[in-house]
Amino acid sequence: MLKENLEAVQKNIIEACKKVGRDSNEVTLIAVSKTKPLSDIEEIMDLGVIEFGENKVQELVDKYENIKAPVHWHLIGHLQTNKVKYIVDKVALIHSVDSLKLAEQISKEAVKKNVISNILVQVNVAKEETKFGIETEEVYDLVEKISKLPNISIQGLMTIAPFVENPEENRLIFRKLHQLYVDIKQKNIDNVNMNVLSMGMTNDYQVAIEEGATMVRVGTGIFGARNYNI
Ligand SMILES: *Cc1c(COP(=O)(O)O)cnc(C)c1O
Repeated sequence: MLKENLEAVQKNIIEACKKVGRDSNEVTLIAVSKTKPLSDIEEIMDLGVIEFGENKVQELVDKYENIKAPVHWHLIGHLQTNKVKYIVDKVALIHSVDSLKLAEQISKEAVKKNVISNILVQVNVAKEETKFGIETEEVYDLVEKISKLPNISIQGLMTIAPFVENPEENRLIFRKLHQLYVDIKQKNIDNVNMNVLSMGMTNDYQVAIEEGATMVRVGTGIFGARNYNI
């Protein structure tokens, strides 16, 4: 079952790339394993996936400690400053940096643990009140400030688009974030890489890829529906 799901997602990624003339090697699939058991992660790992996303610090740390193989963990959910210390040396990429205060804490803990922390700045493109992330107008300023901090390295931008019936409704949101990503890349700010554009989930990853996503975060599409009551 998981195998068929994964293969279908991989095929869709290739097709979305083809549609707009992109090389599918430019797009990294993050398997979002939140709420799912270790056995599911292992099954997907055995099929060659090494990038996994979690949205809670405690769950990520538990899984990190129990999965012995060298997978790359992505923290995709909101991060509180007091929890930075638990994950800064365990994750490949933090997708959800949305304040200078959080970036300063990541920098501080990364210095302490002698690691470089790779991060994305989370942008609330759709301006949804319920979502974390900074507004598009504030991104450049925050990127410049973070770029001056030690042991933290900006790799790109991330957004969570609204839940919509028709994924086409999110196309302009993805386009807007891609444009911002290109604009910032062209400014060549020291210590800032713009190589990762993390956007698109089960419902809309094909549209996100057509609009330039380099990372898509797919949970339900691979692992099936989540049960939060267990
Ligand atoms: C849960 C989650 C996903 C995956 O959502 P699906 O709709 O199950 O693919 C992606 N990104 C973030 C930030 C999430 O919290």
